[in-house]
Amino acid sequence: MPECLFCRIVSGGVPASRVLESPRTLSFRDISPQAPTHVLVIPRDHYPDLPALTAADPALLAEVLSQVREVAEAEGISGRGYRVVFNTGADAGQAVPHVHAHVLGGRALSWPPG
Ligand code: 5GP
Ligand code: ZN
Repeated sequence: MPECLFCRIVSGGVPASRVLESPRTLSFRDISPQAPTHVLVIPRDHYPDLPALTAADPALLAEVLSQVREVAEAEGISGRGYRVVFNTGADAGQAVPHVHAHVLGGRALSWPPG
């Protein structure tokens, strides 16, 4: 069994509320939503963070971002707007070391973040 939490979600060993799937990506609802829509979009393959994914497989990053767009459309937030966040490393508070895009929307979001 893989150690990584999100790899375990990919394999089905840990349940998640799935939103969209593609051959190389997966979207599921954040367990602790910070907005009415809070979906995480990940590559099925394990990369620890955004720079690792970008360096290794930029086409896969493009697939992740394409699914971000599809999630926004499916959630009905593409018109009013939404935020896409890749927390990267300690100062950003990245807690799960499997690259993921947060898609946040459904309410007005404050800026800058805390
Ligand atoms: P990070 O801080 O690494 O950018 O974000 C990790 C996110 O994963 C957090 O928003 C957290 O709520 C979410 N999360 C942590 N554990 C689980 C889980 O088991 N299932 C789901 N769906 N989300 C999780
Ligand atoms: Zn992983």
